Amino acid sequence: MKTFEKNIRKVEPYVPGEQPQRKVIKLNTNENPYPPAPGVERALKSMDTDRMRLYPDPTAGELVKALADYYHVGENQVFVGVGSDDVLSMCFLTFFNSEKPVLFPDVTYSFYKIWAELYRIPYELCPLDEDFRIVKEDYFRDNGGIIFPNPNAPTGLYMELGDVEDIISHNQDVIVIVDEAYIDFAGKSALELIEKYENVIVVQTFSKARAMAGMRIGYAVGNPLLIKYLNDAKYSFNSYTMNQTALVCGAEAVKDKEYFEEGIRKIIKTREWAKEELLKLGFSFLDSKANFIFATHPDYDAKELFEALKDNGIYVRYWGGGRISQYLRITVGTKEEMDALFGFLRSYMMQ
Ligand code: PMP
Repeated sequence: MKTFEKNIRKVEPYVPGEQPQRKVIKLNTNENPYPPAPGVERALKSMDTDRMRLYPDPTAGELVKALADYYHVGENQVFVGVGSDDVLSMCFLTFFNSEKPVLFPDVTYSFYKIWAELYRIPYELCPLDEDFRIVKEDYFRDNGGIIFPNPNAPTGLYMELGDVEDIISHNQDVIVIVDEAYIDFAGKSALELIEKYENVIVVQTFSKARAMAGMRIGYAVGNPLLIKYLNDAKYSFNSYTMNQTALVCGAEAVKDKEYFEEGIRKIIKTREWAKEELLKLGFSFLDSKANFIFATHPDYDAKELFEALKDNGIYVRYWGGGRISQYLRITVGTKEEMDALFGFLRSYMMQ
């Protein structure tokens, strides 16, 4: 090691799912198989490129207002960022500054551990139970903050709002972050708890149900005091996080509630049908309420299956290691994409 390397911050980076540049059936990073709301294309076409000379609005006012109106909260209760990854990372930096450990599940979004390491935040993992469920009582103890996704990823399991509230009410002296990247496909959001509890931050994204992963838009909703602290951290880091195009397109997308809800209905319908098809093929899986299914097969090695699928132009997600070594996470695509997946699996299993 070079002497100068001693003082370099060393991190083990997050490994994102592959983004192949050739045309494949892409069921590996939980994107939406449908296009964004039609208004987004119109907004994009009528965008004034002269705006690009100028820095974007550092307050992201237009997008913040669209989200505040949509959720019937104040504009001072919304914080936006470059995907929910950016928002979550800002939340770690801003809210998790205790000497006590931050708590999150052992099987969950793997970025949590990486941000904790990056910002040198102590953390402890709370093991999921034998059915891969979050054990809420594990979070009823002294800690420096809490974060969990609902539904959890990669399991897809949804925790009822009453249980989420139980975790929050037991932890009113620390910040509790509920990462709701997949909530639109699931059930009740913790957004309705932000008036009751000052210590809750709900984080959501445009990447999944709003079909705009490429635009990189995420947001947090919470009490004005928490949003102020988040903005203070952001302005100490980078004032112009969101580009002009994302601000305009994001605000436009929020306006089309009907299209949004219709897209979610289609994905849920395909998900439930896909579960039946997986059962017929002998897979077992968790009862996902997200836009993906976490599945395993008693007779086929997950890694081999993953590779065979990939060789045939069908990308799913596989991590390997530990408790999830025999699981694949399959994003719910269109009916046609899922038909292709099941067609391949049927012929593979007949060999
Ligand atoms: N939270 C969870 C649980 C996720 O699975 C993801 C998607 N990788 C994210 C947050 C981040 O999504 P994005 O940055 O696209 O909003």
